[in-house]
Amino acid sequence: MDELNLLADADARGRRYTEGNATRRVFPSAEAIAALAAFDEQLPAQGRPAEDTLALLDRAGSPATTASNGPRYFGFVIGAALPAAAAAERMMLAWDQCASTFDNSPVAATLERLAGRWVVDALDLPRESAVGFGTSATACTLAALAAARRTLLARQGWDFDQQGLIGAPEIKVIISELAHITVKKALRVLGFGLGRLIEAPVDAHGRVDPAHLPPLDERTILCLQAGEVNTGEFDPFAQIMPLARAANAWVHVDGAFGLWARASSLAGLADGVEQADSWTTDAHKWLNTPYDCAMTICRDAQALAAAMNCDAVYSTASADAQKNLTLEFSRRARGIPVWAALRTLGRGGVAALVERHHTQAQRIGEALAAAKFEVLNRVALNQVLFRCATDDETHALRIAVQASGEAWFGATIWQGRPALRISVSSWRTRDEDVEALLQLLLRLGPSACG
Ligand SMILES: *Cc1c(COP(=O)(O)O)cnc(C)c1O
Repeated sequence: MDELNLLADADARGRRYTEGNATRRVFPSAEAIAALAAFDEQLPAQGRPAEDTLALLDRAGSPATTASNGPRYFGFVIGAALPAAAAAERMMLAWDQCASTFDNSPVAATLERLAGRWVVDALDLPRESAVGFGTSATACTLAALAAARRTLLARQGWDFDQQGLIGAPEIKVIISELAHITVKKALRVLGFGLGRLIEAPVDAHGRVDPAHLPPLDERTILCLQAGEVNTGEFDPFAQIMPLARAANAWVHVDGAFGLWARASSLAGLADGVEQADSWTTDAHKWLNTPYDCAMTICRDAQALAAAMNCDAVYSTASADAQKNLTLEFSRRARGIPVWAALRTLGRGGVAALVERHHTQAQRIGEALAAAKFEVLNRVALNQVLFRCATDDETHALRIAVQASGEAWFGATIWQGRPALRISVSSWRTRDEDVEALLQLLLRLGPSACG
């Protein structure tokens, strides 16, 4: 098969897969998982035909996918892929651009610069900010925190690039007691030491409590969050930011999904977040671009460009070249699906997406409360946190839902006890899908929930 026929075959298979999105089991069956054994081959000595490889991938692979790109996936905060973003991604695969610099790809550099401007505009963050596109909120948080530390040390007269950390003034890090695990990972990898992190206590909603905020100073990085992963709650930026500004601390905000509330009528939830120094957000969650796509946003563009600089004698570029804003040197143009999503949705479409998910989550919360489940959050955003009367029942309900293949959501621990976490973040989730989820929970709930 020649290249064009092979790609046409892949397109046709992809189209069939997408057609099945609404009806496919949300988590694959045990048989489909067992059939993954078809991949269990030795590395062939002689290459196999490409069409054979593609056929195997589709035959054994497609049935073992999680239908997170479908309408009834409520796990984590996964989102689906908007058609415009998925289509742009396919175009990009054909281009196969390296998006490091303008010299490598004029179109990638142009569109990522534009997408970055649109993102800070949509999120109403300081327009002078640098925007680096990366693989994940994890990687983007790591880049932002590296820039934060380097900058705070420079203000102390310490040249981090040359001297590293040995003998450096200590930079103190304060994180929310409920900071996302990936923020802790970034801090650990950067050498901050989990045992040295200072935890800021949270209130009953899971927000950092300003009354108990540990003292801040000019050697402090404070990590706050816009969208706590269980409750979807926001730290009270309007109260905390003036304290941080007065102390000259650096504030980084993990807004992996929640920051998108800024693009909607729910923006008030994140009032004051624009006063922070850096932010992380994902496009692959609530903006519904394909995996993997996230952003580091840094108010002091130069601080990020200096921390992430990757100029070499054979590859110099402007400070705002993407290779000088993220961890990667070579990567595909992740900003292009972001541009396509934003151009297709427009401001109104982003707002409508966020607001619809909020309304759907509220509907779920109210229906579950009416059915005597214990709803644990006030559904400020798109997350619903709930449990049954006993931990055993909570566990049994999750297992039953996941096994049904009709919907999927995961477990968590909230205030020391198991809980269940429903996230509404897929553009495909219609009100009928929400009602189907509720029917499923009411059907399984009475037996599971006693
Ligand atoms: C998902 C998530 C992250 C990590 O994002 P990745 O893109 O998966 O690395 C960080 N913080 C919060 C609040 C999240 O929901």
